[in-house]
Amino acid sequence: MDIVYLDHAATTPVVDVAKKAFNEYMDLFYNPSAAYGAAREVREAVDNAREDIAKCIGALPEEIYFTSGATEGNNIAVQGGMKVCKGRFITTNIEHHSILNQVALYPENSYVVSVGYDGAIDMQDFCTALDFNDFVSVMLVNNEIGYINPLRDISKKVKKHKGIMHTDATQAVGHIKVDVRDLGVNILTASGHKFGAPKGVGFIYVNKGTHIPSLTYGGGQEKGLRSGTENVAGIVSMAEALKYATSNLKENNKYITNLYNYLIEKLDCSLINYSLNFTHENHYVGNVNLCLMGTRSEEVVEFLSVNGIYVSSGSACNTNDGKPSHVLTNIGLTEEQAESSIRISLNYTNTKEDIDRLLNTLNMYYDLRSDED
Ligand code: PMP
Repeated sequence: MDIVYLDHAATTPVVDVAKKAFNEYMDLFYNPSAAYGAAREVREAVDNAREDIAKCIGALPEEIYFTSGATEGNNIAVQGGMKVCKGRFITTNIEHHSILNQVALYPENSYVVSVGYDGAIDMQDFCTALDFNDFVSVMLVNNEIGYINPLRDISKKVKKHKGIMHTDATQAVGHIKVDVRDLGVNILTASGHKFGAPKGVGFIYVNKGTHIPSLTYGGGQEKGLRSGTENVAGIVSMAEALKYATSNLKENNKYITNLYNYLIEKLDCSLINYSLNFTHENHYVGNVNLCLMGTRSEEVVEFLSVNGIYVSSGSACNTNDGKPSHVLTNIGLTEEQAESSIRISLNYTNTKEDIDRLLNTLNMYYDLRSDED
């Protein structure tokens, strides 16, 4: 059975250019910190990757630090940032758990801002909470509902208060235009496997005027911010994947928008009782979170899965703790609605035929259910 993969927000297939680069550095295995010629070649490849990645997000090469992914990047950002800033840790209630779970580290020194029904940060709540020297972390694109935050405005306010602005851009890098200077952020995190690189590699951008200490002790790689022998194959393949994604960004977004419109059209013509868990403004079209009224998403996901279609019931990066999504409940859905919701995440490899199969299978599910009633 052919698989229809519609869970690209969880992870993406590794693109060919990234595979090729990865394999090359499987053979060229030398430690980039070693002094002999072949190792210098490897060091050069890491430096070139740094330059390429910097270019893709409007940064300088010396502002890019390689990590194992966004979870590590978010931990370095928040805990490093909180060590140097004198204010509070301010974030929102729909962040990824790699941000939100760190609130517990600062029980008396943090504030979680609420969001509206669309995922937009409550600006009044935020502005009241924001004080001088705070560390602020607001994600660029939400991983469950695709809301795109107006980061430029938020950053401006943080800058006025001499704070540190961090963004978790894991679902944005490689999908929408990301320019760190334009966004006005001090720190940004990303994860390679969300844009066609292998898992276990990512990067953090730290503005050259921002200094955060390392959380780990070691050999001092990555200018001391992230010690540990570099994941060379991962790093070079991540740079290839990001160059590829960035150079095709416009066409891909156009293509995904067409697919998205086709999906919504098809849903409207079906008997499926659904509502959108997002609004059209400031929304990334590759992320389609639907409430399928009266269903249990786990059952729907399983039914689709046995029929070769992979979607998600919420965010795949949450361990299955049995709780409804904090993102969906915090935008105002009831627990029942949250537990009836699925996330369909598209990329440029999907086709209209994939959407047809999804809709036909969903219709099949509803038919079987009505037979049982
Ligand atoms: N932040 C966001 C918004 C994410 O979507 C994810 C992964 N789903 C992460 C952070 C963590 O990324 P990783 O698992 O690659 O460390």
